[in-house]
Amino acid sequence: MMKINKALKTPYYLLDEAKLIKNLEIIKTIKERSGAKVLLAQKAFSNFYFYPLMSKYLDGTTASGLYEARLGMEHFKGEVHVYAPAYKDDDFKEILNYADHIVFNSITQLNRYKDLAKANGKSIGLRINPEISTQDPEHQMYDPSSPTSRMGTRLTDFDPAIIKDISGLHFHTLCQQNADALEITLKVVEEKFGKYLHDLKWINFGGGHHLTRDDYDIDLLVKLVKHFKETYDLEVYLEPGEGVVLNAGYLVAQVLDIVKNDMHIAILDTSATCHMPDVIEMPFMPPVTGALSKSQYQYRLSGYTCLTGDNIGEYYFEKPLAIGDHIIFEDMALYTMVKNNTFNGIPLPWIYVRKTDGTDELIKSFGYLDFKNKLS
Ligand SMILES: *Cc1c(COP(=O)(O)O)cnc(C)c1O
Repeated sequence: MMKINKALKTPYYLLDEAKLIKNLEIIKTIKERSGAKVLLAQKAFSNFYFYPLMSKYLDGTTASGLYEARLGMEHFKGEVHVYAPAYKDDDFKEILNYADHIVFNSITQLNRYKDLAKANGKSIGLRINPEISTQDPEHQMYDPSSPTSRMGTRLTDFDPAIIKDISGLHFHTLCQQNADALEITLKVVEEKFGKYLHDLKWINFGGGHHLTRDDYDIDLLVKLVKHFKETYDLEVYLEPGEGVVLNAGYLVAQVLDIVKNDMHIAILDTSATCHMPDVIEMPFMPPVTGALSKSQYQYRLSGYTCLTGDNIGEYYFEKPLAIGDHIIFEDMALYTMVKNNTFNGIPLPWIYVRKTDGTDELIKSFGYLDFKNKLS
């Protein structure tokens, strides 16, 4: 169990270097066995402190637009890929300075920018929508194959004439899934777009691969990647975000007060909506260190903003909570620091790294000006 230094000022994120290295080692094995290239999707995790370490294992980064592309170019030694649902003219011109691979969402976007991209030596691709949902229906918000999705070009909108203009195809349809969902997806991709793949240089399988989860079927993934490489003579890219930093971080908070309504409610010096917005958006309930599946001491853990629904979840503890107790939320590296905000004027948690030697290093502090400077 993670032991924390109680002298540190809460709330703070604690990134676990040893756990990150463990994940990167798993990905290294996947790369070696399959021949796939693996990129970090910065959308999930953009802590460039770790980019030098990560670039020893991964082939580069992928970006959702201009700023992530720039960050990847500036701090990560490797390829820079970018995909955006749509590009703006000004952004696109600047992206040309940073990215090697540029993926377009539609044929209109491709035609608008392809000459400029090619003149600048870029490898360009089109995102396809294979229209194969493998996710739970209640997760439509995260399902690019859902009926209302704007993500990627469907076969009906596809024009084979553009194959001569591009070097690769990209799809991204998974979210927190295993290789069985990828297998189902790839069958459909081959049925619909397979005949074009022989003329291309690469295919990108997107993100959503939970590569570092204990039950992840690495053997199946290796088989699928090899099949594409061998059948179509392609470079295969994977671009996981979550999978790279799964379980590699914590958010440490303290109990400020305990009130009672329908149950005991512990108010913490953190916030779901500010510091872990996916708890509300996804939604999900993060694991809490030491929490039990059942006991007589049940608490709703909640934030100290003025949002009534700023609740993290209901948890059971071994003994009653007390004011000042530390609460450690697990799996807090992904989609937290990249999404947090200062709603209610709530301070941003400082960021520490738990080094492999067991010491904690402060890598980022925040204060009042971080709240003030984005307003006027
Ligand atoms: C979100 C996203 C990723 C990363 O997804 P994870 O679920 O974090 O692995 C990769 N590629 C694209 C295009 C994305 O939108």
